Amino acid sequence: MVPFFTEHFGNPASLTHAYGWEADAAVSQARAALAAAIHASPEEIVFTSGATEANNLALKGIAEACFSRGRHLITVQTEHSAVIDPCKYLASLGFEVTYLPVQPDGLIDLDHLDQAFRSDTVLVSVMAANNEIGVLQPLAEIGARCRDRSIFFHSDAAQAIGKIPLNVQTMNLDLLSLTAHKVYGPKGIGALYVRRRPRVPLAAQLHGGGHERGRRSGTLYPPQIVGLAKAVELGLGEMGTEGDRLIALRQRLWQGLQPLGGLHLNGHPTQRLPGNLNVSFEGVDGQALLLGLRPVVALSSGAACSTASTAPSPVLKALGRDDPLAYASLRFGLGRFTTAAEIDRVVTAVVDTVQALRDQT
Ligand SMILES: *Cc1c(COP(=O)(O)O)cnc(C)c1O
Repeated sequence: MVPFFTEHFGNPASLTHAYGWEADAAVSQARAALAAAIHASPEEIVFTSGATEANNLALKGIAEACFSRGRHLITVQTEHSAVIDPCKYLASLGFEVTYLPVQPDGLIDLDHLDQAFRSDTVLVSVMAANNEIGVLQPLAEIGARCRDRSIFFHSDAAQAIGKIPLNVQTMNLDLLSLTAHKVYGPKGIGALYVRRRPRVPLAAQLHGGGHERGRRSGTLYPPQIVGLAKAVELGLGEMGTEGDRLIALRQRLWQGLQPLGGLHLNGHPTQRLPGNLNVSFEGVDGQALLLGLRPVVALSSGAACSTASTAPSPVLKALGRDDPLAYASLRFGLGRFTTAAEIDRVVTAVVDTVQALRDQT
């Protein structure tokens, strides 16, 4: 990223001079790399400020463009707020939204999806990987069902890109939201994939200079874009070995906690992100647990973006957890720099803290 702050600082939209050409070449290269990572073509990539904006553009852009065709959308109860809230907004404008429930393992039931389709359904939005419990929804099966009915299929892949394989062709995806900062890239940059064949109609939500083929106006930020593509490229390169390493570390963590008893794994045991473990602990106060662990490890119980909220996690509630268990839950995020020694330290700290809290009651 650094050379694009300091030397090649041109505006990629300025094509009358060399400064602009340099920046445009870097953006084109990043666009091609990102497209290749999901088996798309470069013209199908729209850069955004992140997955929140990409989701908003996908959902509102399709709803608006398909207004005369139908006003029904299907999504899932466990989606990120960056999908749920645009859906709520669209509902306030008169659209109808079906929120599919999930099974106790966090996966949707495809029969429920089949039953939810209506003649006026225009879009299905199902996330690739859940941000709290890590479960991987069956995108290819959902995509095939949508394609059969000529309904557009969007997926929020903020947690999935660079961690699990994504293929917009075999998964029949029409729109896919990406972000850099969940895969060690910079914050404030992401992209929306928008299928060209068959063409996906999309109403722009930002109007102006007509950047990104009119789909998202605003000057592009080359350092961020270069960083996004590089982060995804590194993630893809290490996906296989890193995935296996993280699964082994996750298993070490889960095994280490077993002596405690009274544990509930949240989310499917294997169909989940390698680096995600989410556990509910019986007989402890969630707030006290987080406070006790704070000196040892950076943890959260729910989504990082909603730590200000005091309500129990809607995702854990959708799995059927009661309020005390939903509060007494920890989301462990293991990553590229996590070591076995760190896992062992965390196991000791969690076991000691949970035992101490249980002894008090
Ligand atoms: C982080 C996240 C988002 C929001 O992405 P930003 O790039 O921060 O806007 C959306 N969806 C999911 C599933 C996420 O994990």
